Amino acid sequence: MRLKTLAPALAAALLFSGAADAAEIRVGIRLGTPSFRLRTDGQVFVRDLSSGRRYLLVERSPYEITPVDGLVRVAGETLGPEISLEPKEGDLGVRINNVFYRGRLAVKAAPGGLLNVVEHLDIEDYLEGVLPVEMSPGSPLEALKAQAVASRSYALKRLSPSRDYDVTADVNSQVYNGRNNVNGRIKTAIEKTRGQVLTYKGRIVTAYFHACCGGHTASSTAAWGENVYKPLYGVKDPFCSTSRHSNWKLYIPERDLLSFIQKQGSTSLSLKKVRVAKKDKSGRALRIAFDTEQNTHYAEAKAMRTAFGNSDFRSTYITSVSPTSGGWLFKGRGWGHGVGMCQSGAAAMANKGRDYKRILRHYYPGASITVLK
Ligand SMILES: [Zn+2]
Repeated sequence: MRLKTLAPALAAALLFSGAADAAEIRVGIRLGTPSFRLRTDGQVFVRDLSSGRRYLLVERSPYEITPVDGLVRVAGETLGPEISLEPKEGDLGVRINNVFYRGRLAVKAAPGGLLNVVEHLDIEDYLEGVLPVEMSPGSPLEALKAQAVASRSYALKRLSPSRDYDVTADVNSQVYNGRNNVNGRIKTAIEKTRGQVLTYKGRIVTAYFHACCGGHTASSTAAWGENVYKPLYGVKDPFCSTSRHSNWKLYIPERDLLSFIQKQGSTSLSLKKVRVAKKDKSGRALRIAFDTEQNTHYAEAKAMRTAFGNSDFRSTYITSVSPTSGGWLFKGRGWGHGVGMCQSGAAAMANKGRDYKRILRHYYPGASITVLK
């Protein structure tokens, strides 16, 4: 809990320079948090951005960081509205909730007595925190390499200098969980593809990916209304048919379905039939029809996934809906939005001896692999 002021000359000599020759990404790891605790693993400097003063946190010690009237308070010292936590170069960083962060953490007071915590780090280091959670670390190397190129492309496409951060650490961007479970294979996949991104007509591709497509990937146009774009137009996928994620089923009680359509304005009290009313070209449902005792109510298939849970209602690739004991049984294929690379198929292709370039060519047709300078 102690905080020690460093002599300015010494601090200047020791400070992490922040010079970024590789691309830097800013990850919102805590946005709008009332306070947080961290533990220093190695030497960590605190820089008060408004006064320019620097402090050193004691190694292997717990600290609580709280906002006070628009300022940031660390171990009893009230500093300015924004501070920076900077691990000594090459040293261990800090742990928050047992997740390791080794980049520079910018902590800023936010409106409403809250704090935003944003980690600044090299994009290659960021990938070490994405790959283990976005793909099974035991996946074959060529599939991990394909994932590294896809994740790097996706992240670079998200850089937005006008905002306080580029990506969040959750499913709204890519899941990033600090530098916790980096194994040798993941390091190799990142190193062997260092700086490589997918491009199409000279621009980086937003390389979406998902767990399993169920036989055909979705177009980003159908999924999100994005412009027709060759690498994300959707392809047939013969590779994921043996995946355990290739089929799903979910029983939903009729009362839950009625409550779902009632929230959308329906006053119906019973269902005669539930059916897919409109599909995209990959076969995914766009709209579901509920034939009731009154009329037909239409709902977006995507809204059903949100309402019933993306991990239970695994995809909009619905193959049948049938009535059964007081409810309806939905059956479908794949898991996820279906756009871009199918991770189950990528793993199967790698197991059949295909290299990562071939995997990427299959899922992002027309895209090239370009090395960033
Ligand atoms: Zn697939």
